[in-house]
Amino acid sequence: MSAWRRFAEWLHLQWPAGTVEKLPEVREDGSTNVPGLFVAGDLRGVPLLKFSADTGARVAERLADDLSRAGQSPAGADVFDLAIVGAGVAGMSAALTARRRGLRFVVLESSEPFSTIVNFPRAKPIYTYPKDMTPAGELAVTASVKEALVDELRGQTVDQGIVPASARVERVAKAPHGFDVVLAGGDTVRARRVLAALGRSGDFRRLDVPGEDLDKVSNRLHDPRDFQARRVLVVGGGDSALESAIALAENGADVTLSYRRADLARPKAENTERANELAASGKLALRLATEVTEIREQDVVLRHADGRSETIPNDFVFAMIGREAPLEFFRRSGVTIAGDRGAKFWATLLAFAGVIGFLYHWKAGGKLTAKFQAHDWFPFQFMRPEDASTLAGTLGIAFQTPAAWFTLAYTLAIVGFGVRRIRRRRTPYVTVQTLTLMAFQIVPLFLLPSVLLPWAGHRGAFGDADRVVTIAPAAATRWEESVLHSPEDPAALLDSVRPDLPADVAAWPDLSLEVSWPIRHAGDRLLLHGADGRLATVRVSDRRIHVHDPTRGSSWWADQLFPASEWDAQGREYWRTIGLILAWPLFLWNVFTYQPMVLWLVISVVQTFVLIPLLIRFWGKGAYCGWICSCGGL
Ligand SMILES: Cc1cc2nc3c(=O)[nH]c(=O)nc-3n(C[C@H](O)[C@H](O)[C@H](O)COP(=O)(O)OP(=O)(O)OC[C@H]3O[C@@H](n4cnc5c(N)ncnc54)[C@H](O)[C@@H]3O)c2cc1C
Repeated sequence: MSAWRRFAEWLHLQWPAGTVEKLPEVREDGSTNVPGLFVAGDLRGVPLLKFSADTGARVAERLADDLSRAGQSPAGADVFDLAIVGAGVAGMSAALTARRRGLRFVVLESSEPFSTIVNFPRAKPIYTYPKDMTPAGELAVTASVKEALVDELRGQTVDQGIVPASARVERVAKAPHGFDVVLAGGDTVRARRVLAALGRSGDFRRLDVPGEDLDKVSNRLHDPRDFQARRVLVVGGGDSALESAIALAENGADVTLSYRRADLARPKAENTERANELAASGKLALRLATEVTEIREQDVVLRHADGRSETIPNDFVFAMIGREAPLEFFRRSGVTIAGDRGAKFWATLLAFAGVIGFLYHWKAGGKLTAKFQAHDWFPFQFMRPEDASTLAGTLGIAFQTPAAWFTLAYTLAIVGFGVRRIRRRRTPYVTVQTLTLMAFQIVPLFLLPSVLLPWAGHRGAFGDADRVVTIAPAAATRWEESVLHSPEDPAALLDSVRPDLPADVAAWPDLSLEVSWPIRHAGDRLLLHGADGRLATVRVSDRRIHVHDPTRGSSWWADQLFPASEWDAQGREYWRTIGLILAWPLFLWNVFTYQPMVLWLVISVVQTFVLIPLLIRFWGKGAYCGWICSCGGL
């Protein structure tokens, strides 16, 4: 294998594989986006008998409660309380509950009651998983062979008077009394609520290869005894395929199983074990990691993963690669299908991209930010706190910038999704991992740069050579007046603003003012120079003065990691510390700087080329993105 291929596999670039199965969007209680239309059974995503019986009974129970709260139907006697579409396990289980709860109901079935099970192969073993589950409702599923199961199910339903009406339902339409259930041929049945329990009796999936339409190709095995001593190919890797292959092999057919994956991971353990036993005793030929490329009268052609072709003599083919859910029924009835990408999907996606683009530019500090600031729009309308050294003062400054709101929203998203994830996957691993991710986002990526470091800075923790002084509202008005209406004379302007300067700045030796006339608007900066490199930068529209006095002390570490900056509302670039967690090139602003920032360059190189590789070496690829990094967390 080439080095690149090995690397790509190590990165798991082959995942995610396949596509998500399209199914109607159904909530936990069986309801859909169409009020009053519910779904039960296989279409809920778990194709097992017990789950089907359980969901059918639960929906019927819930609908009976709804209807008894709503009271008698004003619509008249020809309106059923409930129309059940499909007389499979889910539909009939619902019917039993509906009868016990005294509902007026009808079951509509296009084929025959329990037709899916009736069509199982003869003598097929029945697995009633999960073994310790007792489904809600009255319908019991205990038989261990197909024929006994059909008898058991009919005995509890049809033989007890629950006889479905023979009808194929095309769609349901909202009506004043609830629904019109539209049948093939145009007749309608009127009902207040509808339960769709159609199973996956939709179309069989196709192989899409030449020869698929030959008579010898089928999707359903009725009686394996019919194929004794015949050469049969079964295609597929799920339970249906394996069970058919097993039944055929046990009944003396010469069976080959072709499956496109390299292992049989999907079927029930019993089926996989039995198939392997038959393969070991030479009764079943397994052709894993192969694909059928052609079906001919006398043989079939398989392609192996390495590109090799194999031709096998053949009399019959069973294509057991699953069935599509009856999605058209749901589309015609207005039910949203998960994964359908219609106009609404694209419109939502575009709107979402638009909102994200707007948010980015709003917080990025460019033209959009300036526009918001010029108009005192959110969050610039908040009063600037006078004393930055209090916690409230620091918070007040932080939340006057869009960036802080953006980071807060991001942190809340991580926490919100995190809590949901912990609730959903209740394993100790997921809990600890998600809490760790949340902690990284909350503390070093939000509280530290936005609140804790600035607060410490305003309290003098990093020396007092640099500090930010707020211009009080009344003084700000005077500044604006002086700046905009002064004659072009720096000395006169300095005299007029001197009373509003911080006392120490006003007392600087050799104080002089530098400004470039004409001043176009109050956002222009005024620079006040003092002896020995002292500099006060007045940003009138931001209502703050950055005071830099090199004769006072300053922390070397702070100057390296978050240098003082007149552009930053907090007076220092505390945001750079998120680079302690988000390594280059994920976060590149500490590496590509106007002047090289040596300490950050060292940190970035060590992170990217030493620490993260070591982390991966000892704990695997997921250690950084899965436990530390905020975007991985999201
Ligand atoms: C080959 C095979 C083997 C299986 N083996 C097992 C097993 O061993 N253990 C296990 O637990 N599960 C097994 N299953 C799964 C199990 O059969 C299903 O979970 C169960 O049958 C689903 O019940 P349901 O009521 O949702 O759908 P179904 O049983 O499929 O019933 C749906 C009914 O709706 C009818 N219908 C469809 N469309 C319309 C329409 N438009 N109008 C009116 N009626 C309509 C159909 O004719 C059908 O009778 C197997 C499935 C298959 C295919």
